[in-house]
Amino acid sequence: MATWTCPYCNHKTILREEDRSGETHQYVSRKYGLINLRSGIVQCPNDECNEIVVNVGLGATKRTPNQSSMRSTTTPIRPNSKARPWPSYVPDPLIADYNEACQIELLSPKASATLSRRCLQGMIRDFWSIKKPRLVEEIDALQAKVDGQTWDAIDSLRKIGNIGAHMEKDINLIVDVDPDEARLLIELIETLFDEWYVARYEREQRMAKIKAAADAKIKPTAANVARTAVASGLQPTQAATPTQPKKS
Ligand SMILES: [Zn+2]
Repeated sequence: MATWTCPYCNHKTILREEDRSGETHQYVSRKYGLINLRSGIVQCPNDECNEIVVNVGLGATKRTPNQSSMRSTTTPIRPNSKARPWPSYVPDPLIADYNEACQIELLSPKASATLSRRCLQGMIRDFWSIKKPRLVEEIDALQAKVDGQTWDAIDSLRKIGNIGAHMEKDINLIVDVDPDEARLLIELIETLFDEWYVARYEREQRMAKIKAAADAKIKPTAANVARTAVASGLQPTQAATPTQPKKS
């Protein structure tokens, strides 16, 4: 079974029967055929959160060939965007652009993509200290610093939906983008938040932990000796002097 990630607390879990509810409202329309309005409620199983997530989906099944097609949509009601929560060490201006790109991805894919591109540029400048006049030059400079797969993904997205031709000239220029492209750009931002900021932070934490553990073992300080003594119920002087094995 697929794991579910809470958009409020980021907790990953498998939903139980009692954590979710869904209903479908059907209506036979003249223009689109059978309309399905689906609503779903999920309660986060993490007791420290227990937030409620609500989505509504709309689609139609044509009943006669001359009826019109309706594009299926899923609209997040609560939270009202698919934005994921990010730790505080990801810079605020990047999070602000990302959150706004998520909020308007369905309403205005063009504006959403513009914000995602600005967020991508902000990340390249902040994380890699690459600063050039045009985003295309910054992405070129990035090629020497990231793995081939990541760079290819960034470069491919630059080319999608005519973004490439325009974003080189002006980062704020609005070009035609469809909702799928806006989503792909948001997912690229999420991947890079994870692979750059989160991975660097977690690596730093792991290294600091290893160093602290090694330091404590190699260089027993007075404080460490006293702690060991307290833990073992001995006086510091006794703990500091290893007892000699008894000679028989
Ligand atoms: Zn939660």
